[in-house]
Amino acid sequence: MGKAGPKPYTWPQVLVSIDARTQVGQSDQCWPWLGGKTTAGYATINARAFADQPLLVHRIVLERKLGRRLVKGEEAMHTCDNPPCLNPGHLRVGSHADNMRDAKAKGRLKIGGRTSATWTKDKPYNRHAVQA
Ligand SMILES: [Zn+2]
Repeated sequence: MGKAGPKPYTWPQVLVSIDARTQVGQSDQCWPWLGGKTTAGYATINARAFADQPLLVHRIVLERKLGRRLVKGEEAMHTCDNPPCLNPGHLRVGSHADNMRDAKAKGRLKIGGRTSATWTKDKPYNRHAVQA
């Protein structure tokens, strides 16, 4: 049996483990992590089925909030400066807000192509229009 290397983790499986160890509070409070942490205090989770190294939980939580994976160069930042916090409302992408809006707009155009006007989260593309 050859080692295929780490598989990309799937959100549903990882998120169940994350939610079980997050002390969810009010939307304006910090939500502390009850599991393991890095020396800097960031929440980590071992997901050996998906990754060789422990995953940084706040990145995954931010990805869930965004509805997409973070790409190279993007960092998950805490607006509350509280490393173990996992309140999605306290997490943002670590780039300028204008850059973020720009990237989102470009991403939408890329995904939707000629049908960008019909792109929505629930309906990534209009199949008939794309293939026409
Ligand atoms: Zn917080």
